[in-house]
Amino acid sequence: SDHDLQYPASPDAVDWDAHYPAFAGTGKLPEFADIGCGFGGLLITLAPLFPDTLMLGMEIRVQVSQYVQDRIAALRVSEHTHNNVSVVRANAMKFLPNYFPKHSLSALFFLFPDPHFKSRKHKARIISPTLLAEYAHVLRPGGIVYTITDVKDLHKWMASHLNSFPLFEFVDEDTLRAEGKGPIIDAVYTSTEEGKKVERNKGEKWLACFRRIQLE
Ligand code: SAM
Repeated sequence: SDHDLQYPASPDAVDWDAHYPAFAGTGKLPEFADIGCGFGGLLITLAPLFPDTLMLGMEIRVQVSQYVQDRIAALRVSEHTHNNVSVVRANAMKFLPNYFPKHSLSALFFLFPDPHFKSRKHKARIISPTLLAEYAHVLRPGGIVYTITDVKDLHKWMASHLNSFPLFEFVDEDTLRAEGKGPIIDAVYTSTEEGKKVERNKGEKWLACFRRIQLE
């Protein structure tokens, strides 16, 4: 349960300088958000590739989010890198708009989300019609939603909901690579702990990416 968690009332109430001391006073806000970041592999990989882009992981499990925080702190000390990445313990399904202002994100990641196999549990899935409106709100026009899973049924579910939502349009992997987002796609496939587990088990991975469009 997340009842004991304290949430900022709005993005203005978040102490971003504490998350990113190296960027204090710049007014920069997170542009990449990794929802259910787990042990942090994606953002740890992306942070040095985009050192001027602020990134935030959201993770509901307390020990896991603490682990990510410790990992980032250690890298900042030993390598003088990862000043642009941070993590919050948060229920992203309920409190996303408390962290991210309208149109602030250029990338939103849902990597190997919990599948919630049973039908009566589908409302617990992190991609649902209600939540898509929130994701469209925080993403800027042109921003990308990246989803990947090894569960084919979940892939179909996420892709069909995103496809039928008017503010998102499917964008294929080659198009994104041609736009210079190849390093992001590579990290989406291989950098996370869950993605590595799927590889060890010789599982398949289904990627589906969508662009946040602007309606005229
Ligand atoms: N994305 C990571 C990866 O690819 O290794 C982790 C995948 S793991 C299967 C799903 C993660 O989502 C878990 O760490 C879980 O605690 C987290 N999670 C589930 N529901 C969440 C929610 N509502 N808000 C934030 N995190 C959540």
